[in-house]
Amino acid sequence: MTGVKSPFSPELAPCGKRSGGERLVDDDGYGLLIRDQYFDCGCRRIRHEYHDGSIHISAVRHDGKRIKDSSLQADHGS
Ligand SMILES: [Zn+2]
Repeated sequence: MTGVKSPFSPELAPCGKRSGGERLVDDDGYGLLIRDQYFDCGCRRIRHEYHDGSIHISAVRHDGKRIKDSSLQADHGS
């Protein structure tokens, strides 16, 4: 795996602040695609696309709280 890191311009972090940071893009060559965002404030947003087409998204705030990224999930819960 050869991850490539590149900076991104400020956007909305999971904590609700606008923050810049680094994006990590990785591809294992077998269909797994990783796109992680590491915000300067400490938040992380993780997006893994698997070879079968399923996408795993999770976000962790800089205070360590795991949140659901509602903007990217179709099911709103109750
Ligand atoms: Zn944050």
